[in-house]
Amino acid sequence: MARRGRLNRCVLGTVVIASCAIATSCSQDRALVIRGGTIITGTGASPIANGRLVVEGDRLRCVGANTECPSPAGASDIDATGFWIVPGLVDAHIHPRFTNRDRAERRQRLRFLLGVTLTRDGSTGGSFEANVLEARRATGSGEPSPRLLVSARVTPGEFADRERAAETARRLVETGVPWLKVHELPPDSVIVFAAEAARDAGLPIYGHAWADEPSVRSLIRLSLDAGFVGFSHMLAIPPLAVPAEVLRAPPGEPGSDTRRVWRRSLWLEADPAVLDSVARSLAERGAWLEPLLASEQLWAEPYRFPAGLYPVAELPMVADAARQGPDIQFTDAHRERMGRSVERMRRFLKTFHDAGGVLITGSDEALAPGLVIHEEMRLLVETGLTPAEALAAATTNAATALGVSDSLGTIEVGKLADLVVLEGNPLEEITNTQLISRVVKGGVLYDPASLLDSLHDDLTDRTTDGTRRMLIGLFATLFVLGAAGLGVRRHRSSLRGKS
Ligand SMILES: [Zn+2]
Repeated sequence: MARRGRLNRCVLGTVVIASCAIATSCSQDRALVIRGGTIITGTGASPIANGRLVVEGDRLRCVGANTECPSPAGASDIDATGFWIVPGLVDAHIHPRFTNRDRAERRQRLRFLLGVTLTRDGSTGGSFEANVLEARRATGSGEPSPRLLVSARVTPGEFADRERAAETARRLVETGVPWLKVHELPPDSVIVFAAEAARDAGLPIYGHAWADEPSVRSLIRLSLDAGFVGFSHMLAIPPLAVPAEVLRAPPGEPGSDTRRVWRRSLWLEADPAVLDSVARSLAERGAWLEPLLASEQLWAEPYRFPAGLYPVAELPMVADAARQGPDIQFTDAHRERMGRSVERMRRFLKTFHDAGGVLITGSDEALAPGLVIHEEMRLLVETGLTPAEALAAATTNAATALGVSDSLGTIEVGKLADLVVLEGNPLEEITNTQLISRVVKGGVLYDPASLLDSLHDDLTDRTTDGTRRMLIGLFATLFVLGAAGLGVRRHRSSLRGKS
């Protein structure tokens, strides 16, 4: 009855109606037990068949076999027999603009219902303050959106000399900003000042390895020497392995289709032996790499929805994004070159991975929110990683690279209960990560189908006023309280809850 009472109270609210109605519970005062499923902990240990998880508050209190882990009195009990439980997924590179709150929130909600429970803002111009505020809000378990870490961008002005750099880094730490990112190519001195200040302030710094100017040839070594911990994108890699004159005479105008295709096809001119040695030395230096393969793949061929994918394809924000791809007039010749470039990228990544390099998943807003992380894992498997390694890139390794492995990234006692419950075994077939039955954040269980319905409602009725919004909330709640009809109507099966 306590749960029902809490739901009713939520319905009387306005803005929070949807989130409370679609979570099976608004409250965290009851423990949650998920039993019978196969737990893929992400620690490297074998999966626990017929396992049992006990969540109290927002943390995992017991992880073990179903015969272990006694249930606390009054706990909600979820039978997950026949399901697989994995850590929540990570998108390490998004660009939310919470200055446009509705849009940013919808995109985060889509990521969340597709299993992404942790995101990192890769430094987004113009909405830094709004994103910092959102990062604080999104830590709450009652928010059906991923947690958010914000990266501040290194600007030449704020890091022009040692004193200013130190002051800026200290201020960012006080604000609670956990990351510093070099986005464009500032002068070398700025990179060094920023890295020094970041190190002294305990603020990790990473780079956007993006440019094709001749100076990029020294960028990666300079950055690593200065203390960078990782890189997003791979575009700065091939310039390290082509003759210098190739970079001095790029074809086409800056920003033209010709130039943009050329930048990506530099992989074809790169010396494979040099690429291999760059991959190995990056791995040896311990830098993580966020390759954005899904984004690169879109240059080679249009995205195709896998058959049986969770029906997010109906959302215009997904359908449009998947149809569009990069905004360039592709010719067959472009596509063919891009396809061969992607092959080279894969060889590079495989060498990096085999040498012990850490790959993590990020999207840079490619394809569609959330969907892209599943595609990234699929492409990592095509690159030669095992499904377990691809899953680790999106969970364990990403959480470690993002500096939050003390509380996230694996299913272990004491960590936050951020989980995804799947209807298929991702270790057998990585695309089974798309069969999402439930998403858990901070111990609160969410039904993705209901979240999707509320997203549809949001998009089809933007003029909804407060009263109608409340009716929609009531409507959704009745379904949840009844046969969970909305929640499961698009599922082939669903968890059987008993409480
Ligand atoms: Zn970006």
